[in-house]
Amino acid sequence: MSSLDKKLTSQMIKELAGKIGAGGGGVEIVGVANIERFAEAPERMHPCNIFPDCKSVVSLVQPIPRSTYRGITEGTHWNNYTYYAYNRLNTLFRPIVTEEICRFIEDFGYEAVPVYPGVPESYPNNPDPVPGRPSPEINLNIRIAAMACGLGEIGWSKVFIHPVFGPRVRIGNILTDAVLEPDPLIKPKTLCKRCMKCVPDCPGAAIPGKNGPSVKIHIDGQEYEWGDVHMGRCTATHHGINYKASPFLKRYFPGLNLDIEKTTMSEELAYKITHNLGRGEWRPSQEFPGTLSYPYIRQISAHCGYLAVCGAKGCIRACMEFQEKSHNIGQSTFKTPVFPGPKWELPPPETDRTGGIVEKKVLTELFQTPDTDAGKWK
Ligand code: SF4
Ligand code: SF4
Repeated sequence: MSSLDKKLTSQMIKELAGKIGAGGGGVEIVGVANIERFAEAPERMHPCNIFPDCKSVVSLVQPIPRSTYRGITEGTHWNNYTYYAYNRLNTLFRPIVTEEICRFIEDFGYEAVPVYPGVPESYPNNPDPVPGRPSPEINLNIRIAAMACGLGEIGWSKVFIHPVFGPRVRIGNILTDAVLEPDPLIKPKTLCKRCMKCVPDCPGAAIPGKNGPSVKIHIDGQEYEWGDVHMGRCTATHHGINYKASPFLKRYFPGLNLDIEKTTMSEELAYKITHNLGRGEWRPSQEFPGTLSYPYIRQISAHCGYLAVCGAKGCIRACMEFQEKSHNIGQSTFKTPVFPGPKWELPPPETDRTGGIVEKKVLTELFQTPDTDAGKWK
């Protein structure tokens, strides 16, 4: 009997995911939603924009290895998190599982469209390629889709919280025309207990407080709400131009004291500034002997494919600390606390010894590394 003659069930997909993904040991890493749960999705975020015949949405999570945060928590090492927990987890490790599940579903004669979780392309001046269809500025909110699949809940910090791994997950989505048994929804505030620990620990001041702006959506009659996170501040911090979170900024732009709590920069602008800084070059000078404007951004994005300087201190690590301490999630018995030592935050440039103006004698001490030729000045 070939696969085409058998009936595909949600359980069969879950069993496969348990074997190939990180769900061994009976942890549910796959959830299923029927398409009706997307009835209230905004026009440009409906799964049928990508696959009009979609009947079910399958979401899966791959846990972020907890230990990848350690280097940033220690203030000593940043590449591990970007590589293993961010870029490669999103673009390689998790997609391998997604792709295998897609092929499994296709063996039964159904389509299985894997959704890449990137930002939508934007063609503001181009005509729609297919008349009557939306222009290619559509997107699928992968966290909302995973919530509709009953896999977890979006917490106040907008991070997705899984019942076993807590906020340490990356999400994949598949759209299929197979009619599959949906999973029950997780009730609002089951996983996010509104402890608000994420708010003060966010170095970007991006997560609103209790009475701050929020987003509300409805799925199958349930109302879910989370903080309307300031994405410009988050992106500026995450991508290294917030002095509180980036020792590299301190080193290469010592006087840049962006007031993150007041900035109104948009997410797009924050991306534009940080990524162009990473690519930018400048003539060598006594103050900055190298030619790269922001060598660390160039280095980490070239080697790790992205950059994640903040290390999600508020939205993931503070939440993880709360979830583990309160035993609100399945994986909560690690021998080491999430923050084994004091939580660090860098002081503003005006309080440091250079005052933002790097004198030659200070610079010689600061730049004692192989990527500069400061040592030759002696
Ligand atoms: S990534 Fe960092 S700046 Fe962004 S919300 Fe999380 S803790 Fe805040
Ligand atoms: S730390 Fe986690 S559980 Fe607490 S409010 Fe923030 S998202 Fe919710």
